[in-house]
Amino acid sequence: MILCAVAVRFLRMGKLQNTFSWSFSSAADFDECRRRRYWSKYGMWGGWEKNASPEQKKAYQLNKMDNCWGLMGQAAENTIMRVLRQHQAGNPITAEEAFETVARPFLRQKWTESKRGEWKTNPKQFCCLREHYYGTLGDEKTIAEQMSSQIKNCIANFIAKVLPRIGTVTREQELPIKTADTGGDSENILFKGVKMYVIPDYAYRIDGQFHIHDWKAGKIKASHREQLGLYALWAREKFRAKPEETFLYVEYLNEGQVAPFQLTPEDFERLEAQIEDSIAEMTEYLVDFNREKNEPQPKDEWELAADPDSCKNCNFYELCREELGT
Ligand code: SF4
Repeated sequence: MILCAVAVRFLRMGKLQNTFSWSFSSAADFDECRRRRYWSKYGMWGGWEKNASPEQKKAYQLNKMDNCWGLMGQAAENTIMRVLRQHQAGNPITAEEAFETVARPFLRQKWTESKRGEWKTNPKQFCCLREHYYGTLGDEKTIAEQMSSQIKNCIANFIAKVLPRIGTVTREQELPIKTADTGGDSENILFKGVKMYVIPDYAYRIDGQFHIHDWKAGKIKASHREQLGLYALWAREKFRAKPEETFLYVEYLNEGQVAPFQLTPEDFERLEAQIEDSIAEMTEYLVDFNREKNEPQPKDEWELAADPDSCKNCNFYELCREELGT
């Protein structure tokens, strides 16, 4: 799954406060480029307000931007969940039906919003694709065909290879997972006093055993195992799940492969140490190292990417372009 929620809480006077939080995606951003973390967590803050500065508004808008392959992943995930729900309801649908009723309308709507620039009125509500914004799309028809073909392949593999494994899971056995779509704050736990966003795609409990799946519509990456390790942490914190009772599955839908694994107690220790290191590094970029106040050091203290390749596919390129001299 793809993406990171913004940590907020209401102050007594009703104003939102930017609270310190950690997630797998925010740590990945921070590792790749400190400035990207600055824009996505601090530079954009308040950018929705009428009286925000132009830089805040721009950072907010760019932070909301999506991209073609992210959209493809969302379409694939929405569609396989419909397939699963229909199957559970005793009313199965084919891959073609699922694509036509879920993926195609979703893609058409987002694509149209992006092309028409509807996001200019509300960047949070309407889709803006990075490829449209920066003019890097290439041949639109070819890209659209590639996306459709990959989604169809993901759905077919889900029906053929995943559904036979999870098709008997009932709604009662599923674990509730809060997302941006369900309203309110997304799924999170407290880790050593720090709010940590952890949002598994699909999880259930059977006979005291916890099974957690993550759908991947794109390529196989080693980092996916780290990401799922966090889900084991989530299950431990939320449900007191023991390592030996927790089963993790990276579901590579396009490849038709699954990578199942479990964490040992030593893996947990390593993972927790990595997260603590990451949180400590992020804290160094705060005034007085104070996570409670969560006030960032001035922008210039957040270094630009060491590898210029990182900037090629970065939403915030427009804001860094001058400084990068490109
Ligand atoms: S454009 Fe480059 S330097 Fe700027 S935030 Fe993105 S990756 Fe970092």
